Amino acid sequence: MPATTCRICGGAELTLAYEGATASPTGEQVAPTRHHPGEQPELHRCGRCGVLQARVIEGELKTAYTRMVDEAYVAEEDARRATCRKLLSAAGPNLTGDGQPLVLDVGCGVGLLLDEARRRGWRTQGVELSDWGVRRARHLGLDVFQGTLEEAGFAPGVYHFDGEGAPAPIHVGELVAHLAVA
Ligand SMILES: [Zn+2]
Repeated sequence: MPATTCRICGGAELTLAYEGATASPTGEQVAPTRHHPGEQPELHRCGRCGVLQARVIEGELKTAYTRMVDEAYVAEEDARRATCRKLLSAAGPNLTGDGQPLVLDVGCGVGLLLDEARRRGWRTQGVELSDWGVRRARHLGLDVFQGTLEEAGFAPGVYHFDGEGAPAPIHVGELVAHLAVA
């Protein structure tokens, strides 16, 4: 049974906002470049915080993401890297603090954002579920934890934006794009 409370705020009012599939997602269906109409899971809106979320069972979503392979994503690697550089350039001036930034990318995929950050001399840490993504990111020499952010168990205060020590921005682009509720 999918849970009936909002994964973000715990609110109990989830109402169907967009119709979609109700079957368990597959690894192919959660690939970032896959946008087949009608294939996305049902999306429900939280009555308290307003966030749209898929009410799929968390364990099934984790399994799907672990199996995810997306060759179409890396076929556009040059353009994706250019987008990563724009993002990092935009973030850079806001990163005030001592030392090189430490970037945490939750759902880092094959590690393109982290690789571009590293080229700037920034320190990096990735979190990713996909066997395929983790393998490719590690092949680039990146430090990637395979699992969920909760499982990674980072100590409180390591990632921060407060100007104390080295700034540590967190990127959750793909994660937010594929947000789901347990
Ligand atoms: Zn909510």
